[in-house]
Amino acid sequence: MSLHRAWIGLGSNLDDPLARVARALDELDRLPLTRRIAASSRYASRPQGPQDQPDFINAVACLETRLSPLALLDQLQALEQRHRRVRARRWGPRTLDLDLLLFDDDVLALPRLRVPHPEMARRAFVLVPLLSLVPDLRLPDGRRLVDLVAALPDADLREVLPPEGGDR
Ligand code: ATP
Ligand code: CA
Ligand code: CA
Repeated sequence: MSLHRAWIGLGSNLDDPLARVARALDELDRLPLTRRIAASSRYASRPQGPQDQPDFINAVACLETRLSPLALLDQLQALEQRHRRVRARRWGPRTLDLDLLLFDDDVLALPRLRVPHPEMARRAFVLVPLLSLVPDLRLPDGRRLVDLVAALPDADLREVLPPEGGDR
C-alpha cells in the first residue's frame, strides 16, 4: 500500500465550532493508516445562503495516508456521523463537514466521490487556508492555487487562531 497525500476541508457552525474543529483535527490524526502532517489556522466566515445562522469555522488539514480515496471517504463520513450524533434535530445545520479536497494528483468522478472537490476552486474558505500551507500548489489540471485565490471576489474571511505549534 503506497503512501498518499490527502487534503481535507473542515467546517462547522454549531455546538462550539472552534473546539469541534480542534477535536476533529486530532481525530483525523488518529484515523487508521493515517497521520495528519499539517493544519491551517482556523478561519471564520459568514455562511453561504441564509444569514440567520452562526459564522462558520473552517480549516484545511493535510494527511499522509495508506487508505484508498474511498476508504478515506468512509472514515471521514464515519467521523462526521459521530459529531452529528449530538444533534437532536433532523436536517439541522451540520456540526461537522469534512470534504476530501485533493488526493495526490488524482482526478476521480465516482458516484460517491469527486476529486478535486468540485466547488473548491470557488471557495475562499478552502483556498485561503490551503494557500497558507502550500503556496506553490497546483490543481491536477495545472491551475495554480495562487491564481485561483487572486481571482476570488473579496472574501469575508477572518483568521481566528494561529496554526498549532509544530504543525508546519
Ligand atoms: P459541498 O460538497 O458543496 O461542500 P456538502 O459538503 O454540504 O456540500 P455533503 O452533504 O457533506 O455536501 O455531501 C454530500 C455527498 O457528497 C456525500 O454523500 C459524498 O458521497 C459526496 N462527495 C462527492 N465528492 C466528495 C468529496 N470530494 N468530499 C466529500 N464528499 C464528497
Ligand atoms: Ca462541504
Ligand atoms: Ca461534505
